[in-house]
Amino acid sequence: MQLSHAGQGGIIDIHTHMFPPDVIRNQEKYCRLDTYFGVLADPKCTIQRYATCEEAVALADEAGVEKIVMQGWYWRDHGLCRYHNDYMHDLISRHPERFIAFASVNPRAGWRAIWEMERCYEMGFAGVGEMGPGGQGWDLNDKDFLNLMEAAAKCNMLVNIHAGEPVGKIYPGKDPTPIQGFYELARRLPDLKLILAHWGGGLPYFELWPEVRETMKNVYYDSAGSPLLYKMGVFKAVTGLVGAEKILFGSDFPLLVYPRKQREADFTLFIEDIKEQGGLKEDELTLIFRENSLKLLNNAGKLNLNV
Ligand SMILES: [Zn+2]
Repeated sequence: MQLSHAGQGGIIDIHTHMFPPDVIRNQEKYCRLDTYFGVLADPKCTIQRYATCEEAVALADEAGVEKIVMQGWYWRDHGLCRYHNDYMHDLISRHPERFIAFASVNPRAGWRAIWEMERCYEMGFAGVGEMGPGGQGWDLNDKDFLNLMEAAAKCNMLVNIHAGEPVGKIYPGKDPTPIQGFYELARRLPDLKLILAHWGGGLPYFELWPEVRETMKNVYYDSAGSPLLYKMGVFKAVTGLVGAEKILFGSDFPLLVYPRKQREADFTLFIEDIKEQGGLKEDELTLIFRENSLKLLNNAGKLNLNV
């Protein structure tokens, strides 16, 4: 396998989405079954792409990505969440050295969502996510959501939540998650390891306030989908705000994050862009591309990465 720039072990991509083959084959059916998926994945206009297990591994090899961390999908329907989890369980069972899974759950399913998280914990998943309040129809203050978060903290499951920015244009999938909700969550459950996707929707800025930083000590930010919105300078800027040790490389593969340049999804373009345009030092790149995620994943759920 191609090695990363770090020279010891490859890149860990904390934010990808692998879909069951039936979803890939019958996109229109799933767009009808789940209206939010229909908004994001409408085959006529979407930048969503799909990869089979073999395609993903081949593209990861090309880019020096050692571990593909699959976020679930924010399905509304509990049955679809379970179906997606069964598929990811199959992938991590067949390729434990390449795939790591986060569980699809919708807190609106109440106790069933907690049981599903526990089922996934037993199956060796690292966490729950990507959860999406707007897409799944819940709020960061909902009792069901908070119960699920409490259970996740007890099992040491990581949590990844989609974070949207409160400003800027409206686009399919924009979910302006209120950032004070994430702060409240971190305050309520200080031991919960929280990954806020898409740079936390601007929350890193407030970590310059020492009291907020202390509260957010177990909060991390991923870079999923970044080129769709931000200039590459965001890497250096957020490193300046929160430190490289709180940033995790995530791509949102197989989403086309460079829709003008890409026909098909790949990992390489974004990774090269970060190395060339991100303005980061070598040791910061090592933390962001690998070490931070490794540390989190090694203590997640029942996972033991053996690296
Ligand atoms: Zn997202």
